[in-house]
Amino acid sequence: MTALPTYDDVVAAAARLEGHAHRTPVLRSATADARWGAQFFFKCENFQRMGAFKFRGAFNALSRFDAAQRQAGAIAFSSGNHAQAVALSARLLGMPALILMPQDAPAAKLAATRGYGAEVVLYDRFTQDREALTQQLATERGMTLIPPYDHPDVLTGQGTAVKELIEETGPLDALYVCLGGGGLLSGSALSARALSPGCKVYGIEPEAGNDGQQSLRAGRIVHIETPRTIADGAQTQHLGQHTFAIIRRDVDDIRTVSDAQLVDAMRFFAERMKMVVEPTGGLAFAGACQDAATLPGARVGVIVSGGNVDLGRYAALLAGE
Ligand SMILES: *Cc1c(COP(=O)(O)O)cnc(C)c1O
Repeated sequence: MTALPTYDDVVAAAARLEGHAHRTPVLRSATADARWGAQFFFKCENFQRMGAFKFRGAFNALSRFDAAQRQAGAIAFSSGNHAQAVALSARLLGMPALILMPQDAPAAKLAATRGYGAEVVLYDRFTQDREALTQQLATERGMTLIPPYDHPDVLTGQGTAVKELIEETGPLDALYVCLGGGGLLSGSALSARALSPGCKVYGIEPEAGNDGQQSLRAGRIVHIETPRTIADGAQTQHLGQHTFAIIRRDVDDIRTVSDAQLVDAMRFFAERMKMVVEPTGGLAFAGACQDAATLPGARVGVIVSGGNVDLGRYAALLAGE
């Protein structure tokens, strides 16, 4: 592994994203502040381009391609927001993109990815080795593989959201960030350590898949089976080499919340803040609410990571089905 990226790399990423990514709003909720006794600042990445923060990392990574890489384009495997982020970034930068998606991925996600102009190659999750297939296609076509989290340019791109947040709010007492493979959490920690050194940084993951918490406790990357949770953006089996090294150094703790707490967070966002937030996007707020007794009056940053959810599924979750 090369040297770990630093906050300077986040600053460079922010310059590349200028004029391409949205500067998403930081929303407040008097109801949330009154109910939980803290001062919440919600960084709303559900309003980012393509509906999640993943645009930041993908666009940053693709903008660093040299001429030959641009010509051949980018390749990624994902059934979720990273696929759309790479597809949209490639289109904006005028390069080809190839995305491997499972045959049984939701039709809406396939359509969205194709809608951004990417070529989609389907594979069978049960019989085909996704990584081997991606590697083979990357070699055949000379395309550059962009992983969803374990890449310096991806994680420093993700870190630009918290840079914007703290530049707007000033110093925070605590920051809550959702955790899958750790791209968002590690980049956020780089920004928080630089801009608000006293701020506690917490990663929140689904209780069904607490590999990050186990890894922090064990001091090494712990692998688990794919967890069963409604937080489909955080169904990762392990942290990355780069993300873990930064998380281990800069993150205060990793905590977990249940699927029921995620639904409560989604309902709060819908009812009180009029926002559609996907299940994974509720992780950070659910974690902050759980800690509220320890945060009286504190200035608390909460990352709302995305809003891409099938509306039928969303309605069923809110109805308690
Ligand atoms: C990818 C994703 C996450 C998890 O991010 P990591 O960088 O993998 O930790 C959280 N929320 C949403 C909406 C995502 O798309």
